[in-house]
Amino acid sequence: MPTVTRTCIASFSVRTSHALPVESLKESLQFIHDIRDALISDDIFPKDLQAAVLEPIEGIFNLDDDDVKLSLTAYLSISNASEEVYRKIQKMVKERYPDSQMLSFEQIKKKVQEFSRVTPIVSHMCVNSCVAFTSKYEDLHACPRCGQLRYRTKGKNT
Ligand SMILES: [Zn+2]
Repeated sequence: MPTVTRTCIASFSVRTSHALPVESLKESLQFIHDIRDALISDDIFPKDLQAAVLEPIEGIFNLDDDDVKLSLTAYLSISNASEEVYRKIQKMVKERYPDSQMLSFEQIKKKVQEFSRVTPIVSHMCVNSCVAFTSKYEDLHACPRCGQLRYRTKGKNT
């Protein structure tokens, strides 16, 4: 369940420089306990994600479309690289084979989500990477560590 793991790690991303050490440790321990006790059936996970994980699709995909097949192969091959790597590969393929309909990064990412039915859970982060606005921070409008606003105010970029 990579989605679950990524979300939990993001929740645990807490910078301690602005917090009292004991309070920070207590908070970190609480996050550890929350991660340890998390279940896919918990309400924080969308029902469709729960179904995708608990009842995975079984069988072999028959990809008739060579462009989708190429896109999927490239996407899976660079799984630990950045999006930019995929974009560069796509650009090279399109330059060499102008008729290629290799999918954009966004298109193949969407296809993979359709195939797997597993969709990411996205949580906002403090612009200074102090915390993720998830779990007990989910409803906050400013970072509890550095005070930065969660959202940009209209007309300002800070
Ligand atoms: Zn912050």
